Parts: sequence; C-alpha cells; structure tokens
Amino acid sequence: MEATPSGSGKENEKPAIHGISKPDLEIWLKEQGEPAYRAGQILGWLYGKRVRAFSEMTNLGQGLRTKLEEHFELQALQPVGDLSSSDTTKKYLFKLRDGRYVEAVLIPASPALYGEASDRRTLCVSSQVGCAYDCKFCASGLAGFVRNLTAGEIVEQIIRAEEITSQKVNNLVFMGMGEPLANLTNLLKAIEIINADWGCGIGARHLTVSTSGLAPQIKKLADQPLQIRLAISLHGASDEVREKIMPVNQKYPIERLFEALRYWRQHKKQKITFEYILIEGVNDSIDQAGLLAKRARALSAKVNLIPYNQVEGLSWNRPSEAVQESFLNILKGRGVPATLRREKGHDISAACGQLRLKEEVKEGLVSETAVKGG
Ligand code: SAH
Repeated sequence: MEATPSGSGKENEKPAIHGISKPDLEIWLKEQGEPAYRAGQILGWLYGKRVRAFSEMTNLGQGLRTKLEEHFELQALQPVGDLSSSDTTKKYLFKLRDGRYVEAVLIPASPALYGEASDRRTLCVSSQVGCAYDCKFCASGLAGFVRNLTAGEIVEQIIRAEEITSQKVNNLVFMGMGEPLANLTNLLKAIEIINADWGCGIGARHLTVSTSGLAPQIKKLADQPLQIRLAISLHGASDEVREKIMPVNQKYPIERLFEALRYWRQHKKQKITFEYILIEGVNDSIDQAGLLAKRARALSAKVNLIPYNQVEGLSWNRPSEAVQESFLNILKGRGVPATLRREKGHDISAACGQLRLKEEVKEGLVSETAVKGG
C-alpha cells in the first residue's frame, strides 16, 4: 500500500496515522471506496480537534471509523515522563511501540539560537533511536544505532508535546537524537506533514534540520522546494581537529562538506548556522576561532557556540567562561554573527540522547558496559 511508511520498528505494526499525508490518505480512501473529501475531515479531527480515538470522528460513518481503527495507529508514542529544568526547558520521554524510547525537548524561547526575543516555543525532536555517527561529545551514539523513526513517530512528538503543554509549537529543530539526513525519506515525509496547513502548520522558515555533515544528502535536501533552514554541527574548523570529534569527517572532510554548503546557498535564502560545541583543550584555541571565522564568512553563516555539556561516560570538559567569551569575541571581531548559548537544560540531561539512554540502561535494553566501554 502506498501509505505504508518505511523503517518502522516491526513489519506487522499498523502505520501511525500521523505519518500519512493528505495525498496518501486520499489514495487509501479511494482503495476503500470512500470519497476523497473524507481526507480533509479526518485530518481536521487529527490536527484541528486533536481527537484521541477514531471513534470520536463523529462525522464519519461507523464503517470508515472501524476501517481506520484496523489500518492505522492513532497513538504510537506514549509519554512516560517529563523533566523540567530551572530555566523552564522541558524534556519529554516517549515510549515507542517496540519498547524503545525517544526524547524531545521544549525550549520556551530560543534567542540564543535565533537572535530576536520572541514568543517562540521551540521543540527539539528526534529522528532516530540511537545514532550511527559516534560523535565523541554525544550521548545519542554511545550505545549505537537502533532504528529510524517513521514519519509518524517524528510528527507525533509535536502532537504529544502540544497535548501535554496545551500550547502550539511554532518552531522546530531536528536536533534531538539521531542523524536526520540518514533518515531522509521519513524526514521529508514528516516535514511535508509538519509544514502543511492540513497538518501541523509550522512554516518552513521555522523548521531547522541539523546535520553532522552528510554532504550528498545536504544537496538532496537543497533540491527540495521548501525554504527550510540548515544547521551544521561543525565543532572543528580544521580537518585535524574535527576528525578527533566527529568520525564522519573522514568520510566527508571539510572541503567536501563546504562544497555541499555552497550548493545549499545557491538554493536557499536563509543563512546557514554552524553549531560549535566548545570543548576544553580540544577545539577552543585562538587558531580554531580564527579559522572558524574565516569559514563562516566564506558562506555568510552564523555561529552558535555551545559550552560542552558533560556526558556520563565521556571524559571531556567545558572551557572556562573567560575562554568561551574570548572565543566569541574573536568571531564577533571578524564580523561573524555569533552567539554563545547560555545554559539551557543543563540540569535535566538536555544534551541530546541522555535521557533515553538512562532509561534504556535502566531497563536493560542497552548494557551499561556497551555505554561505558564505547
Ligand atoms: N545528528 C544531527 C542532529 C543531532 S543534534 C547533528 O549532528 O546535527 C547535535 C547537537 O546536539 C550538537 O550540534 C549540539 O548542539 C548538541 N549536543 C549534543 N551533545 C552535546 C553535548 N554533550 N554538549 C552540548 N551540546 C551537545
């Protein structure tokens, strides 16, 4: 069937309805002998009225409601806990149908990321369970890659977060667990649904995909018509330094990555953001700051500096505030728009992947030695 998404946890699972686009739903309805206009009604119940059961879709016939029930899952994510931090960042843990966990983080305003003070409510969503890229600062990859999230599981993180908070999410970043560009098909389907006015209705310029730098996929994403934003997890300004932090740099060294970024620039209007975690003695030298400034200027990119968040099982440290500030000032002094993220969510394991990892270790889904032993 056209509407079945790929990459779900189990082959015999019903597809999550939140991963079905309007055109896909119309195809399914046609197969069921139902008129196409029912798609608009169903989507209205899902994204407008936010019903919790197909039986609540009262303007549909009983027969169609039963068929929907048989074919689709309305709730593929069970909220199992949320953690609040002192700075109002909230972190949600969701249980998937195969027993795995993903997490999403709600950040009430994100001026450090995007400048202006605003009523922005940014949700940071996951795209995979675990991660295959093994960045040396990140908890997500510590226990390896488990699976891609389906489009429905990506979209539903928004639905559940909005349900819990009774507030609309109006800005979305794909900076949670996983590498979104390694799950491109499901990511694009999710973006279609998230952006559509029959779906979540979040404008393309309020969607940011963050990547460790998969050059070919960056170009594929650039070919998509939507004016979404791109963030690059750079973390090193030379191959020598970046390689120590991110193994992916061996496959796509900086020159190859930047070639893809120039291609992106030809297709998209918004500035690229470089994320740069400051790690003591690893990438925080004056030389790296100078080189980073040069690279950012070449692409008119902005830089978001993030003090390294300590991850259990990893040995690096964050530099002193004085070092952080002087790194920032070198960038600014060379005309690069740059921000230093003052702490958000440090006290709730907000660095990507930490919460899910704790839960899965606790339940024995991943072993502690796999995590600690690397
Ligand atoms: N795979 C994608 C999406 C994951 S987001 C990518 O690489 O971009 C990765 C981001 O999470 C990093 O760029 C950083 O901003 C944040 N992050 C992860 N671990 C961190 C840590 N230990 N300290 C601070 N930030 C961290």
